[in-house]
Amino acid sequence: DDDKRKFKRVLLKLSGEALREVGSHDNISPPIVENIAHQIKAAHQNGLEIALVVGGGNFWRGVTASSRGMERATADYMGMLATVMNSLAVQSMLEALDVPTRVQSAIKMDGVAEPFIRRRAMRHLELGRVVIFAAGTGNPFFSTDTTAALRASEIAADVVLKATKVDGIYDSDPKKNPNAVRFDRLTFQEALVRQLKVMDATAFSLCQENNMPIVVFSMNEPDTIRQALIGEPIGTMVTA
Ligand code: UDP
Repeated sequence: DDDKRKFKRVLLKLSGEALREVGSHDNISPPIVENIAHQIKAAHQNGLEIALVVGGGNFWRGVTASSRGMERATADYMGMLATVMNSLAVQSMLEALDVPTRVQSAIKMDGVAEPFIRRRAMRHLELGRVVIFAAGTGNPFFSTDTTAALRASEIAADVVLKATKVDGIYDSDPKKNPNAVRFDRLTFQEALVRQLKVMDATAFSLCQENNMPIVVFSMNEPDTIRQALIGEPIGTMVTA
């Protein structure tokens, strides 16, 4: 398949909401996490090196809490802790499927996770372990999208795969405009000029500066996470 993207090492970003069942009060749905783990395992079996960043929005978002009166930095630290819970959930389900994993936390948390150590993370990947980066960047005022861009650059991943609710990037909002056109490919420059929202500005500019491609794809349909991981041409790919 000529269209197939060739990845050796990828960073998959899952939003916290991806772990929640729509309409449920539970922040994490174990069956949904299990399904995600199955897809990761399927891609991992082909020898792909996989790192994960999991968001925390299913529990808590710093900006939301701060807009309602809480100090932003503290609210952000709480959000980072939320990503640790999600990371442990994903780790647990992967390990249940015999996929070796390590969680590395940007906030020291002996007993539940290793500290983030870049060279050790890369070693884990070489040894076939799925590395889950928890606690975001460890800094308030950042997002897990920025974490994904940062860690992907640090570990020299081939791409950031961003699982979302929409199946790519459109020239206008597909929910509002029925004639919205989806891009298969875009350059960073085109995305900027057209003011298309790929990731938050910090995350986007990190990717652009480091020449880190981004694939935005929908995880609402079954099996798309596996497809994105193995380089099937789904979603929209943003490159230099
Ligand atoms: N967060 C942070 N620094 C980081 C990453 C995350 O302060 O480097 C906090 C921030 O409050 C954010 C929350 O953690 O709202 C959860 O992350 P995010 O909103 O990116 O999760 P997602 O929307 O992907 O589920």
